[in-house]
Amino acid sequence: MDIVSHTLWGYGLFGRQKPLIAMAFGAMPDMVSFGAFAIIRFANGNYVHGKPPLDIIPAWCFLLYDLSHSILIAGLVTLLVFRLRPPLAFAMLAWPFHIILDIPFHTRHYFPTKFFYPLSDYFYDGIAWNTLAVWLPNVAGVLVVVGFRLWSRKKATNLPEE
Ligand SMILES: [Zn+2]
Repeated sequence: MDIVSHTLWGYGLFGRQKPLIAMAFGAMPDMVSFGAFAIIRFANGNYVHGKPPLDIIPAWCFLLYDLSHSILIAGLVTLLVFRLRPPLAFAMLAWPFHIILDIPFHTRHYFPTKFFYPLSDYFYDGIAWNTLAVWLPNVAGVLVVVGFRLWSRKKATNLPEE
């Protein structure tokens, strides 16, 4: 999924108490890989909008993608944080949710999601997220969860004082 959708899914589903943390963890798996590469290209003056061809993407970008898109790593880190700071861990669930969304919506041709990395390189050869049949329901889902989050925030601030 695109990074804006991931950010908004994180906010809508897990941003009740810590909205910025939920948005950050929703975006983080792509920011540390694609985002970092885009920033470096931008700094070097060779940034081109759109998805970069595989042959110009450095090995570290693939490694960071695999590490940040491992449900094992995301689950372990979130569980450790849960033991210390449960509200923070709840917002961090945007991270494993990002991975769950990427598993069926990436193909073997471009960054398949090896969700059991580093134990296994297994991935599901899914349907690309930028296919309209996937992306339009995604936008609808984002509108529903963000709408619900904004509505529940408004409702909470409109409660009569006791
Ligand atoms: Zn991703």
